[in-house]
Amino acid sequence: MELNKAIDYASRKHDGQKRKLDETPYISHPFRVGMLLLQDGLEEDIVTAGLLHDVVEDTDGTLEEISQIFGEKVAQLVAYASEPDKSLSWHERKQHTIETIKNAPLEAKLVVCADKIDNLTSILEKEHEIGITIWDSFKAGKEKQKWYYSSIYNSLVHELNENEHPALFNRYKKMLETFV
Ligand code: ZN
Repeated sequence: MELNKAIDYASRKHDGQKRKLDETPYISHPFRVGMLLLQDGLEEDIVTAGLLHDVVEDTDGTLEEISQIFGEKVAQLVAYASEPDKSLSWHERKQHTIETIKNAPLEAKLVVCADKIDNLTSILEKEHEIGITIWDSFKAGKEKQKWYYSSIYNSLVHELNENEHPALFNRYKKMLETFV
């Protein structure tokens, strides 16, 4: 089954990596992103892309390899969820993502949205637990993060009518409203 294969592959690729925020094994994040998409009833390729979305950005895995194992469509979705080269500044990388997402296919937007929901959930939970010092652990502080997460929302809904917004986008919007 494709999902089991994706969980195995992502676990191997992220082996030894930890989440910056809470030192838990990194795989917990892509796993939750996949589960968010699965719970939303989305098709297997989208859930698979959610499970693999950080492989290219953060491991030695490549789009070519993903395409060979999981097919071209999954690889394309992962490409949309990956940031360009890390030599660019924080602002340049984020601006690039904001622009790319605007005209991405809806399926790619869903993967990005699930990624942001999970990241924001972790950050806001941690903020609740230890207070605003949580923001010191980021290169860019709270205001910049807020700008980034809000801009991503605007890109997700770019040129979509309100009645076309998937449930996941609305869930993300509600989270942003608690981000004060
Ligand atoms: Zn991610």
